[in-house]
Amino acid sequence: MSTTTALGAFTFSTVPHIVSEIGAVKRIGALVQQHFPKARRALVVTDGGFLKTGLVDAPIASLREAGLTVSIFSDVVADPPEPVVLQAVADARKNEIDLVIGLGGGSSMDVAKLIAVLVDSDQDLKSMYGIGNVKGGRVPLVQVPTTAGTGSEVTPISIVTTGATTKMGVVSPQLYADLAILDAELTIGLPPKVTAATGIDAMVHAIEAYTTKLKKNPLSDMLARQALSLLSSNIVTACEDGKNLGARQAMLLGAMLAGQSFANAPCAAVHALAYPIGGIFHVPHGLSNSLVLPHVLRFNAPNAAGMYAELAEILAPGVTGSTEARTQALIDKMDEIARRTGIETQLRQVGISEADLDRLADDAMLQTRLLTNNPREVTRADARAIYAAAL
Ligand SMILES: [Zn+2]
Repeated sequence: MSTTTALGAFTFSTVPHIVSEIGAVKRIGALVQQHFPKARRALVVTDGGFLKTGLVDAPIASLREAGLTVSIFSDVVADPPEPVVLQAVADARKNEIDLVIGLGGGSSMDVAKLIAVLVDSDQDLKSMYGIGNVKGGRVPLVQVPTTAGTGSEVTPISIVTTGATTKMGVVSPQLYADLAILDAELTIGLPPKVTAATGIDAMVHAIEAYTTKLKKNPLSDMLARQALSLLSSNIVTACEDGKNLGARQAMLLGAMLAGQSFANAPCAAVHALAYPIGGIFHVPHGLSNSLVLPHVLRFNAPNAAGMYAELAEILAPGVTGSTEARTQALIDKMDEIARRTGIETQLRQVGISEADLDRLADDAMLQTRLLTNNPREVTRADARAIYAAAL
C-alpha cells in the first residue's frame, strides 16, 4: 500500500493484558491478585481429560496460596452442548463465583466466557446467540489455553451446540477476556496429531484473516504475518519433539496472534466448509480445516493470488517466480506440513464418501456469516466441487 493512499476506516479490539511466559501458570495466583485485587472466589473451567493430567494442580495451588477459594468445573466436552453451559452457570452461582478462569482448549475457554457473562445476569442464554446480543457486563475473566490452535483466549466468540448437529455462536465484546496467559508447559503432553491439526487451524486463521474480503486492516495483516512466521517455523518441531518448550511457546504465541487477527478480520470459506465436516462426522475442528484447505486455496487463487504470494514469502522464505508460482508454493508448503505431521489429507480417510457430498455442500451454504468474507464468491456447485476434490 502506498503511504500516500488514504487508509480505509477500521476498528480493532483485543484482550488488554497478555502474559507469554513458560511456567507462568505457577504464579497465576499473584497475577490474579495483581489484576483483580477484589476477587475472592475463582472458578476454574476445564475438561475431565485435562484435569486427569495433573497440570491443573500447580495453578490451583497458586490461586489458593494467593487467598482465593477455588472451585473446579471439569465437565466441559468438545463442541459443548447448551446443558453443559447451563450446568456450569448453576454451579458458579451456587459457589458465588466472582472470577472465571478458562483452563483448557477452545471448548473450555468458550464455556468460561459464557459463565462470566451469565453468572450475575438475568439474561437467558438463548437470547445471546448472534452478534452483539449480550446485555450488561460480566465478572473478571482469565483465559489459559492448553492447545495452540483456536485462539479463543483473545476472541469474542463462543460456540455452543444447540441440536444434534447445529451450533450457534455468541459474538459480543463482553466475551473478550481481561487477561490471557500463554504457558507452553501446559501443552507438552499434546499428541503429535493434535498438535498438527490445531496448529494448522491457527495457520488457517491467519491465512483467512489476511485474505478476508471486508475487514482486512493493517493491524490484522501484521498479526497474521507474524503468526504464520512463528507457526510455520515451529509446527514440525512441536510435532516431532513435543517436549521442546521453545517450539511449544512459539506455537502458543502464533495461535494467539492469529486469534487477534481473525477476531477483527474474520474467517471465510475454509471454515465454512470445515464446519459441516465437524458437525456431521465429528471430525476435530483443526483436521476439518486442514482437509479442505488446499482445495479452497486453489479455488480462491484467481481472486487472492497476490495475497497468497505475499504469504508464501513468509512460509517458504526465498521463494521467487510469478504470483501463480508463489501461490503454488503456499499450497505446497501447507501440504508438506500435513504430510510430515502424518494427519489425514483426504475426506475418505475420515469416513466421508461420494454420497455425502450433497449434504455437506447444503450445510456449507448455511455458513453465510463466513462465506460473505471469502475473497471469491462460493456457489453451492463450487462448494460441492471443492468437497469432491478433497475426497
Ligand atoms: Zn478455526
